[in-house]
Amino acid sequence: MSNPNYGVWRPMAENVEFNALESNSNAVMAVADTVRTTLGPKGLDKLLIDQAMNRHISNDGVTILLSLRAIHPVARMIVEIAERQEQLVGDGTTTAVVMAAEMIKEGKRLVKELGVHPTKVVEGIESGVKEACKLLEHEAKRISLNEVALEQVVKTSLSSKLDGQKLSLLVISALRSVGNNAIHNGTYDFDRSIMVLRRTTMEDRVVNGIVLERKRLDPEMPLEMKDAKVMIVKLDLKPVKESWVKESSRYEEILNMENDRIAKSKEIVNSLLATGAKAILIASSEVDQVIEDLLVANKVFAVRISIEEIEYLSRYTGAKPVRMMEDLKNSDLLGRANRIYEDEDKGVIYIDNGSNGGISTMIVSGTTKETSLERWRGAIDGVNAAEAALNKGVVAGGGAAELHVIEKVKNLRLRGIEQVGLEVVTSALESIMRQILTNAGFNGLEKVMEAKTSPDTFGININSGDPVDMWKLGVLDPLLVKTMALEAAGEIAKSVLRIDRNLAAEDLSQQALSETRR
Ligand code: ADP
Ligand code: MG
Repeated sequence: MSNPNYGVWRPMAENVEFNALESNSNAVMAVADTVRTTLGPKGLDKLLIDQAMNRHISNDGVTILLSLRAIHPVARMIVEIAERQEQLVGDGTTTAVVMAAEMIKEGKRLVKELGVHPTKVVEGIESGVKEACKLLEHEAKRISLNEVALEQVVKTSLSSKLDGQKLSLLVISALRSVGNNAIHNGTYDFDRSIMVLRRTTMEDRVVNGIVLERKRLDPEMPLEMKDAKVMIVKLDLKPVKESWVKESSRYEEILNMENDRIAKSKEIVNSLLATGAKAILIASSEVDQVIEDLLVANKVFAVRISIEEIEYLSRYTGAKPVRMMEDLKNSDLLGRANRIYEDEDKGVIYIDNGSNGGISTMIVSGTTKETSLERWRGAIDGVNAAEAALNKGVVAGGGAAELHVIEKVKNLRLRGIEQVGLEVVTSALESIMRQILTNAGFNGLEKVMEAKTSPDTFGININSGDPVDMWKLGVLDPLLVKTMALEAAGEIAKSVLRIDRNLAAEDLSQQALSETRR
């Protein structure tokens, strides 16, 4: 490997002017090398260790990249691409990185060995990526929620994850439990209907309804409410500041203030209860003790919730957040829950509306904090993969779809020397299968050649090494993961290839830049 330290950046004087393409591409390669061996189901894990000797084992491209220290600024672009891929589609980060590295390697060869001008290479990349995406779209098949293909996409996406097989069953059951309730504005949006809860003390499970990692406001409140009217309170229920009380010296005044506080609290609680609410979900960081006591006395089930939880709870129960006292006059503020109860042993609260509420909670377990975190990430990846597959279709996995569009991309006719830029894209398209197979212990190049001469949906069985129809094997990837990864890789390759010099600059903060321009 050319650079053992992920391309550590040392801002020395010699760096002011040097052959940027060579060093930038080395830095990118070094970073890509740290994650490429994780690609595919036989990919290996990385042990991450920080300065305080904390450790974490991961197989997840983006997690690994984000935890690397002291990265060369250009290589950092790779990390950003992986991060963006993760945000946009939630999977395919290693794929994007491997393709970007391949494009940069091939692009550099064209520039340095064949003397092609970088702008020509860049134009070739642009056209090639566009064409490849179009061809992949053409290959893609639409699938629906109840098809086995959906299960296969989820299994494929989780095949390299810790405990992937078991996790995929969990994910699939969560997907099916919310079903078409997850459709929003015509597309599947599972974020709105599947909540994911990480609990080391619980088993993997999908629960119809909402599970909150919380306790009742007061242990003397009832443990359970059935068929309850639910209110979500966003009012400020904080206690009157103590300092405020201390400042006033006269006993009478303090007494008045205390009475005032009690009267006010009573007024608030009476107004809340007058609506008929039996379960009150409170989004206020603190609750006045008097208010709490009054709620206990009135046998109300109250629990504190976070601002983020409001949206789900509001949609699930139909309750609209109460922001002002005046809101309480509005009669359609209340929602409903068939059952709301606390499991004291497990430390969670269940809110259940049967299966008609359209929200499920996927509880992801794990023996240690570390494994539960990795499994939790995996579960979210699986949901994202399914969402992408349902919305945009699926293609043959294992790098097969990419491999079989290569010949067609080559058919594209560009103006002149730009034509060679296409080779950058075709190399990247080939690199995915090669890497997956190399990671599985085969001669990647040789196996890719075998797959190339097989029919269009064929790849290589990573166990036997024989050509196999990926659709029959059930190894399927969401189209969107593939096209996004390809576009992301193209973007970064273009940026890196265009740079001919790295220069040491004074101050590149946004503010400094805008002042220079003025
Ligand atoms: P990424 O971070 O890019 O998602 P992964 O490590 O999850 O990387 O690997 C994804 C790749 O592994 C996809 O191209 C997928 O098709 C491939 N893959 C998954 N299971 C298999 C399998 N059984 N055989 C061959 N390829 C597989
Ligand atoms: Mg993946």
